[in-house]
Amino acid sequence: MHLRNSEPREWASFPKQADAQQLILQFDYRRKSTAGTLTLTQSDVKESWTVTLNSKRLGQLVRDENELQTDFLIPNGTLKQVNNTLSITCRNNSLADDIRVGHIHIHSADPSTIRSGATLQIEILNQDHIPIPGRITITNRQGTLLPIGTKSGNGLAIREGVVYTANGRADLAVAPGEYKITAGRGLEYSAPSRLLRISAGQTAKRTLILERQVATDNWIACDTHVHTVTYSGHGDCTIEERMATLAGEGIEFPIATDHNKQIDYRPAVEKVGVTNFFTPVIGNEVTTKHGHFNAFPALSDGRIPNHNELDWGKLFTDIYSTPNIRVAILNHARDLHSNFRPFSPRHHLSLTGDNLDDWQQNFNAMELINSGAVQTDPMELFTDWCGLINHGLHVTPVGCSDSHDVSRYIVGQGRTYIQADDHAPGAINTETALDSFLKGRVIVSYGLLVQLQAKSSTNLANSIGPGETLSLTASSDSTKPTMLEISAKVMAPHWSRPRKLQLFVNGMPKFTADLNPKTGPEQPFAASIAWKIPIEELPHDAWLTAVAIGDGIESPHWPTAKPYQPDSAVFESKTFSCTGPIWLDADGDGKYRSAREYAMELLSQTPIDTKTGKPDLKALANSLTTHDQAVVNQSFALLLKLGIEPSQFIAAGIGKRGRDFASQWRQATRARVEQQE
Ligand SMILES: [Zn+2]
Ligand SMILES: [Zn+2]
Repeated sequence: MHLRNSEPREWASFPKQADAQQLILQFDYRRKSTAGTLTLTQSDVKESWTVTLNSKRLGQLVRDENELQTDFLIPNGTLKQVNNTLSITCRNNSLADDIRVGHIHIHSADPSTIRSGATLQIEILNQDHIPIPGRITITNRQGTLLPIGTKSGNGLAIREGVVYTANGRADLAVAPGEYKITAGRGLEYSAPSRLLRISAGQTAKRTLILERQVATDNWIACDTHVHTVTYSGHGDCTIEERMATLAGEGIEFPIATDHNKQIDYRPAVEKVGVTNFFTPVIGNEVTTKHGHFNAFPALSDGRIPNHNELDWGKLFTDIYSTPNIRVAILNHARDLHSNFRPFSPRHHLSLTGDNLDDWQQNFNAMELINSGAVQTDPMELFTDWCGLINHGLHVTPVGCSDSHDVSRYIVGQGRTYIQADDHAPGAINTETALDSFLKGRVIVSYGLLVQLQAKSSTNLANSIGPGETLSLTASSDSTKPTMLEISAKVMAPHWSRPRKLQLFVNGMPKFTADLNPKTGPEQPFAASIAWKIPIEELPHDAWLTAVAIGDGIESPHWPTAKPYQPDSAVFESKTFSCTGPIWLDADGDGKYRSAREYAMELLSQTPIDTKTGKPDLKALANSLTTHDQAVVNQSFALLLKLGIEPSQFIAAGIGKRGRDFASQWRQATRARVEQQE
């Protein structure tokens, strides 16, 4: 049955009309009433739904969007011979939740009895046949996650159909039946699966070998945003379970970011025995009424930044003066918390990176992908970030998971690859890794990976990557103009499908390539693309980034989630990857200059109109003909500060190059008048 607690429809993928608002089922039970189990299948459960039998509350549906089967204990004496009433009802009707429930069964034994009739012994090995931490996903043929009798502990983190193992082994009690077992270990590994049937009393042993499919040598897999229920108080992943999930997803450099707490994972790392797999960093999600900021590295017994501070200037001063802290990430900038949205049009001009209240934007990194809180439009935060870079801010792009859970949102699904030595994941040099992170030597990854290199045809030896500056000098031989030579590579495991690769220059798309994966069923995907730009076509300094987009992942071993704050009922899941900026010095002054700096220079050189006392807009429009759209946009933002409206500059000659800025400014004006977050 399709249930909807309240209108309007949550997702367009559900029918317009639900079957009911709640489930009420009446039935007779012609058996002896003992302790029993109610088993059902559920999917897309976001809110809190209560399961009640004959006015006895059995529990809640699992708050998880994935399709799963779950058990409820029926206490002895609850069932009657006739007129039993089962109900499933949502008590919070302020937010619409479309869910599916069905396949309801009553068993005459309790859950631990019915889930212990058979044993599964699973081993996960790497290509050298050494056991490694991983995730085991246990479903039926259709992909529904199935209940497991064994509970978390001893290096295992267990939920319906999901087992993370810290040492590569798991002995699991299950009900007899048919199972599909899939092993996995995050982005870089294959996901082999087996179908098997076990009868009562039997033990089934299976070994699954993971193939490394995405090579990331010298790139550290980092998740900058990790929670535990132990210290954040919500979600379901305890600190011990977190150790198994991090190791099992191949995260080498997790940042502990519980809300306003600075937690040292090291004792738990040792207890669970995962010291060789990652180097934990103490951090803090500084959770204020004016935004959330992940700050690290911190000290567990050190001072904590004041989360009651509302003034960004004072807040960043406080964060950076907290012992050890070097990084402050702007988290989920498009999400609403405490009725505040950092990048609401009310506060922020996306196109130019301007804060409309003149708040100090001293964060030095920003989440582009938060896999626990994806955006309806996968490019929205990327576009915001381009505005900040064109504004002249040095902001490292970040992918992270914000996972509070074992299974609902996967830890490390969104992640940041940091260019640094990763040969010993348990002994990463934190300061060196963070130097690289702050320089922008990173790749944002969510289900695939893009790499970018650039070089000049006059200096072929000097190929550089993200976070570096390339100096371009014009060739003395006019028959052989200097070329900017760019190469990009997209990689993905066999279970992920890249579709499109784009190169952005100063935040604007320059080249697009369709990726047509022609690989065998278990083969990884890799494609390399090269582009050339004659440097005469670059009017001034600029920066490059590559973006790869692919299909959202449906495999139950690594499903990409829906937005939890959607902008629309229509949602198409996408994977995403982009690189840190490659800076280009094209004007030969030895350094990169931002679009903002060019706009400021042009404006300072513009004659003042003697009648108005303001810059001669016609002259400015004329000098902008040799500059790109990013510089035009920044000029509009600077003119606004002088009280000159976009319409005036458009009329004075910049014309349709002002269209995008004018429309954003209208949206901002409306949001400010209506006080709309
Ligand atoms: Zn947050
Ligand atoms: Zn968080």
